[in-house]
Amino acid sequence: MNSLESMLSGVTTVAIGGHVRPDGDCVGSCLGLYNYIRDNFQEIQVTVYLEQPSKVFSFMQGADHICSGDEEDVVYDLFFALDCGDKERLGKFVKYFDAARHTVCIDHHISNVGFADENYIKGELSSTCEFLCEFMENQKISVETAKCLYTGIAHDTGVFQYSNTTSKTLNTAGMLIDKGFDFSRIIDETFYQKTYKQKQITGRALLESIMVLDGKVIFSAVRAKDMEFYGVTPQDLDGIVSQLRTTEGVEVAIFLYELSPQVYKVSMRSKQCVNVSEIAGFFGGGGHIRAAGCTMQGSMYDVINNLTEHIEKQLLTEN
Ligand code: AMP
Ligand code: MN
Ligand code: MN
Repeated sequence: MNSLESMLSGVTTVAIGGHVRPDGDCVGSCLGLYNYIRDNFQEIQVTVYLEQPSKVFSFMQGADHICSGDEEDVVYDLFFALDCGDKERLGKFVKYFDAARHTVCIDHHISNVGFADENYIKGELSSTCEFLCEFMENQKISVETAKCLYTGIAHDTGVFQYSNTTSKTLNTAGMLIDKGFDFSRIIDETFYQKTYKQKQITGRALLESIMVLDGKVIFSAVRAKDMEFYGVTPQDLDGIVSQLRTTEGVEVAIFLYELSPQVYKVSMRSKQCVNVSEIAGFFGGGGHIRAAGCTMQGSMYDVINNLTEHIEKQLLTEN
């Protein structure tokens, strides 16, 4: 494994990109690396390209410098793709990846086949932020970098709860909180706190949820007109699938929202035995064994029928 030191040697311009609809791990890893480079490699010019993140992440240093618009073409010496399972998920910023002189991918999605010149993919790690710490020298991590990386780890582990949490995850998070910042405030304000309209749409999604396959699967869908009614955007729907997952007896939770007529964004979470990454992969998406997503076409019922067929097969082979 190359260190950041060697990846950055002889490099003067760097671009960093993550996946579309960036989550805490994506924003945290991109800004964590951005701050680390700015602090320790002052001669390097670094730019972060990401879709506009949720405003809960605006406390991260550098968040106000993220380029989200239609920017001009630039050829960078080095492009880092972080927390991004496949090239398409870089979205419109893929042009910087394609044009860059050298590309590096650092990721933890098991579905990632390695699309860069240099690929570091560890599916067993909780988060890209945890992985990034392996490339950094602890004493060179500033408190502002630590805040970004800690946020990413906390988000992708469901605040150190999901089965992707290991003693190494906790040790890494421990090293980061030793830098000294208000971690409980970060968790509260970025993970648990929701706006009133988010609470309303969550309530609506739970109320209209349906249990199938003998209560092993729960699903709920939000239509575009519901999103319009409550005045919410896709970012506001984060966390609904986790609420569905904690229903007693459920193995798989499925949450859909309508991207356009007959096109749904699918989020799946499983508890113990179903590999949702495999199912999402079958439908052109990907992710992790216990958390995955894809985009599917058809009516809401077509989508659910197609997904439950795969889940049922896995449940049958399990028993
Ligand atoms: P989500 O349900 O969108 O929170 O995503 C769960 C996990 O699956 C995340 O790690 C995503 O990066 C990944 N994922 C979601 N949608 C896709 C997709 N269309 N293609 C590949 N990976 C995805
Ligand atoms: Mn992510
Ligand atoms: Mn991640």
